[in-house]
Amino acid sequence: MSPFKDLSESSPNASLFTLAPLPMDADGIAQGFQHYYAHTFGRDRDCRSSYYPYKALAITLRDRLMERWKRTRHAHDQANCRRTYYLSLEFLMGRSLSNALLNLDLTDATRQSLYQMGLLYEEIEQAEMDAGLGNGGLGRLAACFLDSCATLQLPVKGYGLRYEYGMFRQLIEDGRQVEEPDHWMRDGNPWELERPEYTQRIPFFGRTEEYKDHNGRSCRRWVDTHDVLAVPYDIPIPGYRNDTINTLRLWSAAATDEFDLGEFNAGSYPESVAAKNDAEHITMVLYPNDANECGKELRLRQQFFLASASIKDVIREWVRLQGRDFSTFADKNCFQLNDTHPAVSVAELMRQLMDDHGLEWEAAWEITSRTMAYTNHTLLPEALERWPVRLFQQLLPRILEIIYEINARFLSLVAARWPGDIDRQRRLSLIEEGDDPQVRMAFLAIVGSFSVNGVAALHSDLLKKGLFRDWYELWPEKFNNKTNGVTPRRWLAMCNEPLRDLLDETIGTGWVCDLSQLSRLAPHADDAAFRARWDDIKQANKARLSRLVASTCGIEFPPEFMFDVQVKRIHEYKRQLLNILHVIHLYNRIKHGDGDLGAPRCVLIGGKAAPGYEMAKLIIKLINNVAKVVNADRSVSERLRVAFIPDYRVSVMEILAPGTDLSEQISTAGKEASGTGNMKFMMNGAVTIGTLDGANIEIRERVGEDNFFLFGLTAEEVERTRGNYDPNGIIAHEPALQEVMGLLESGHFNQFEKGIFDPIINGIRSPHDPWLTAADFDSYRRTQLLAAETYKDRERWLRMSILNTAHSGFFSSDRTIAEYNRDIWKLDTVEPSPFGSW
Ligand SMILES: *Cc1c(COP(=O)(O)O)cnc(C)c1O
Repeated sequence: MSPFKDLSESSPNASLFTLAPLPMDADGIAQGFQHYYAHTFGRDRDCRSSYYPYKALAITLRDRLMERWKRTRHAHDQANCRRTYYLSLEFLMGRSLSNALLNLDLTDATRQSLYQMGLLYEEIEQAEMDAGLGNGGLGRLAACFLDSCATLQLPVKGYGLRYEYGMFRQLIEDGRQVEEPDHWMRDGNPWELERPEYTQRIPFFGRTEEYKDHNGRSCRRWVDTHDVLAVPYDIPIPGYRNDTINTLRLWSAAATDEFDLGEFNAGSYPESVAAKNDAEHITMVLYPNDANECGKELRLRQQFFLASASIKDVIREWVRLQGRDFSTFADKNCFQLNDTHPAVSVAELMRQLMDDHGLEWEAAWEITSRTMAYTNHTLLPEALERWPVRLFQQLLPRILEIIYEINARFLSLVAARWPGDIDRQRRLSLIEEGDDPQVRMAFLAIVGSFSVNGVAALHSDLLKKGLFRDWYELWPEKFNNKTNGVTPRRWLAMCNEPLRDLLDETIGTGWVCDLSQLSRLAPHADDAAFRARWDDIKQANKARLSRLVASTCGIEFPPEFMFDVQVKRIHEYKRQLLNILHVIHLYNRIKHGDGDLGAPRCVLIGGKAAPGYEMAKLIIKLINNVAKVVNADRSVSERLRVAFIPDYRVSVMEILAPGTDLSEQISTAGKEASGTGNMKFMMNGAVTIGTLDGANIEIRERVGEDNFFLFGLTAEEVERTRGNYDPNGIIAHEPALQEVMGLLESGHFNQFEKGIFDPIINGIRSPHDPWLTAADFDSYRRTQLLAAETYKDRERWLRMSILNTAHSGFFSSDRTIAEYNRDIWKLDTVEPSPFGSW
């Protein structure tokens, strides 16, 4: 029942029922700011912290987002439109303040109004903690996609988990990674809005039983469950200057009030309260594994918690607007699964439709398999999720029953298509047999989805030929490619203001929402005056990067050196090791007085290693040890400097991408599904040195082979090399690599830590090294030399830099999302409703 009486007719003061739009100018911002700063937070001008100014400004902006948010929601309801839900265990959002200012077109007004109050925007901005609710590329992709969906005015809602602790903070102590918990919400989160009225109950454990419904029909149900509450928190996702505000809904776990009441009544009050913790632990922490399955029970709980809560929420809305008739549900709803992490949604949607809403299997399956779409993110076998059947049996017994039934029906279809082909049935089964049978989550996702996509052309192709070959043979029409992209708002307009201004002046402002317009820059690459301005901007961005490196690493990077940057999660397949071997090679040549190395360079490497990934952590140690030797040697450091930047995250990338000359994208071919760091660097005018892997291939196609430094084996050559790989033979025949190995093996970089790098040395020398580091070394070394020589030709390099930005238009996530919408989602755009009464 509404607490509001309808006074609209009788009210003596109608103005109380209409809300005037909030002012969008410097004075309006100042008023809002002062109100929250002084009245809500009780601060005055003597306050030293920039946290309160940040919070006051954030809430001032949130008010302006809020009025547009309601209009967007209202328009979606009115339009009764088809919608998409982007389900992801990760959203790597970074900071929200500058992004909200940019998208609301309030950056200048806010700077001005703060300045008049004696405050510096640049300092206030720093007070915001990154929302690090993701590991790397997969989580950042989800964040870029939300920005593009709002900008394209598509009715898309993100669903994720509200982790209390995001991605750990990385410290470097004695050259080694140390992890610290990231309590990012400790001081509150001004961007979120709690929605307790939409709380859902999520079942776990218990057992299943048969019963007869009121029609005498035999049904199954899940009983004696231990329920956990899912409480939603909404985060506004502003489109670019279009008044659309979409929603990211994050679920937080809470204990039910009656939690373990039995124990409570038995007098063990502390035990019963302690048990509450167990429920609340579900959303306590993000698992810090990137491209790696972790197999922990709590992780499966997180996955089901997200799937179940989000589907219940969607069905609740469906029932509110459409009633209990599900016949058009699949026409109006689509779930996009970000990797297999939320793949249990296939079985959970079946369960809710059958057990909670009385649908028959066939009707429920028709809806489910027309509603789900799955994006695959990796070919690495260690990342393929499988869950033990026994874990499912205990934690999600009803879900396991449904998975078994899906599998039985599916395998009879396979048997009909390929009679007698038992091996094929075994290969395609959702259950991997063995001592400890496993549920194959990727297969569950494929059976239950109408679309299966990879994230770059090569990756989608390899999926069809390799991992999903049998599935492709069965259902070729399901398979498609959607090459990743990144949002040009955050990754160009927001993080590189000087370049944005030059672009606006040169080609107009339309590029921000139509990045293909950047191609109009290409002719300016031949204009010397334009190149000079481009150079000035790059130098300014390099100076900013330099200041960051000086303050976080204590190392001076001279802006006239070539800035060579590799930042991404530390993983063997990404080959940070190859990079540091090349650094050792340069060091060795400089020490031998062989000075013809092209331009002097600063090498910057950064990224987090999963806490249990010992080899990745050892590579961080090696990078830091090499950096120490190089930087301490005066004869070397005038030509070469090396730093490891700690705690690589979104807000750090916003400074690195604009200040980079050379972008390192050097994964073993066939291993990097797409990469998106490569796109951010390209957009900001860095030139790539890379292998033919992931989206590098498409980057090179667009920018042209003259403007890309290519090296290394192809994916096909990598596969052919396996089985007859002889790294020791390669090392023996390549003097440069032999000398590098000599330095490593002599303990030159670990004089007081004998033998610590042996696992790395043994890996490089192993004929079973999956990453073929030695195989690509010489090609990499020669291509690096070419890059450093090219860099000395300033005009040539500037031309390459300009052309990289000019041809980066394809890598806008607006293009990616337009393709998802054209081929998979098929949503109509919706404009927000006009301003109205509250
Ligand atoms: C873009 C981005 C990534 C992905 O980088 P790749 O080089 O594609 O692996 C990872 N982490 C952060 C913080 C990013 O911004």
